[in-house]
Amino acid sequence: MLTNEIKALADSWEEMAKDIRRMLHRIPETQFNEFKTSGYICSVLDTLGIPYKKGYGGGTGIVAEIKGSGEGKCIALRADIDALPICEETALPFKSEHEGFMHACGHDAHMAIALYTAFILNELKASFKGVVKFLFQPAEEGDGGAEIMIEEGVLCDPQVDVCIGGHVMSEYETGTVIYKKGSLMSSPDNFEVIIKGTGGHGAYPEKCVNPIVVASEVVGKLTSLTDPNVPRVVTVCTIEGGTCPNVIPGEVKITGTARTFTRQSREEVTRLIEERVREVCDEYITGYDYKYIPLYPALINDDNITEAFMESAKKILGEDKVLPTHQVSMAGDDFSYFAAAVPSTYVHIGCRKPECEEIIPIHNPRFTVDEDCLKVAAMCYCEFITDFLSEEW
Ligand SMILES: [Zn+2]
Ligand SMILES: [Zn+2]
Repeated sequence: MLTNEIKALADSWEEMAKDIRRMLHRIPETQFNEFKTSGYICSVLDTLGIPYKKGYGGGTGIVAEIKGSGEGKCIALRADIDALPICEETALPFKSEHEGFMHACGHDAHMAIALYTAFILNELKASFKGVVKFLFQPAEEGDGGAEIMIEEGVLCDPQVDVCIGGHVMSEYETGTVIYKKGSLMSSPDNFEVIIKGTGGHGAYPEKCVNPIVVASEVVGKLTSLTDPNVPRVVTVCTIEGGTCPNVIPGEVKITGTARTFTRQSREEVTRLIEERVREVCDEYITGYDYKYIPLYPALINDDNITEAFMESAKKILGEDKVLPTHQVSMAGDDFSYFAAAVPSTYVHIGCRKPECEEIIPIHNPRFTVDEDCLKVAAMCYCEFITDFLSEEW
C-alpha cells in the first residue's frame, strides 16, 4: 500500500543507516554489558524524537515506540544488540575498537536495520493506525535477554499482536530474504557430566577406576545420540581432567550441547544422555553427576504471519528474491521466546555481495555484512508492518 513511499524514504535514510551500523561496529560489547551500544541507540532515537524507555533486560535493553494516527493493532520488531568475544580480523576502516570483541554475528546490522525501519515509519506514521514497538534486546548470545524482557512486560501495554525479527546470513546473496514456516531453529541446551573415579598412581591402573577411560566411552555413546531423523544433535565440546602424566585423576568433567526441536524430543534427549552415562558408569562400578541445562525453546515460525510477511517482501523485492527454505538450523536464537509468546516470524536476510564467492559465516573473525542488505531488510519490515497495521489486513 505504501510501497512507493517506503522505497523513496529508504533511499533518503540509507547513508545514515550505514553510518549507524559502522559506528555500532566499532563498539562491540558482550551480553548484559552493552552500555555504550545502548547509549548510542538512545542518542539516535533522541535525535529523531522517537520516544523510548530504557533499562530493560538487565539494564541495556530499550523499547522504542511509534504510534500511528489512531487506535489499532500492535507489532514488535526485535533487534539483538550484543557482540562476541572474538578478535576481529577484517581490514574494515571501522573495525572493532574493543580489543578482543567483535560484532561477528551481524547484530550491528540488526540494530541499524531496526533504527532504519523506525526512521521510515516515523515519517509515515500519519498513514497507519496502531503501534510499532522496537525491542533492542541484550544478550542473544548465551544467557538470553528475550525471556527477561518478556517478564518485564515488553509485550504488554499495549499488547503486542505479532512479533518479527531476522538475522543476516552470508550463505545468501544481498537482495534476498529467506523464509520458512514452522520449525526454524533448535532449542540449544547444554549438559554437564562429572564422571567419578578413584585417583591413584598411573603405574597401577588396576587399583583405580580411571575416570578418563570411563569418560572416553561416555563421549562415544553421547556422540552417537545425534540423529538427523529426529532431528537431534548431541556434541561433546569440553573434556577436562588430570594434571600430570603419572597421576590418575579423581574425576573428569564433560560438557556439551544438545539440540532438539520439540518438547518431546527435548525431554527424550535429557533422559537419553543420562541413560548412556549410567550404562557406562555401571559397567565400571562408579558414580557420576549429571546436569541438563535448558537454554532457549526451539524457534517456531507462525505459518500465517510467515506467509503474510513473504507476500509483503515480494512487493518490495520481487517474487524471485523471496525464497523458501526447507532446512532447519541446529543453531538457536532466543527470539524463540517472542515466537512462543505471540504469533511471529523470523527471516534470514542475505548479506553476501553477489560478486563475492567466498562465504565467511557468522561467528568467524573475518565475517562482514554487505551494507546494501540494510535497505533490503528495512524496506521489507516497513512494508510488512504497514500492511499488517492497515485496515485491509
Ligand atoms: Zn551469534
Ligand atoms: Zn546472531
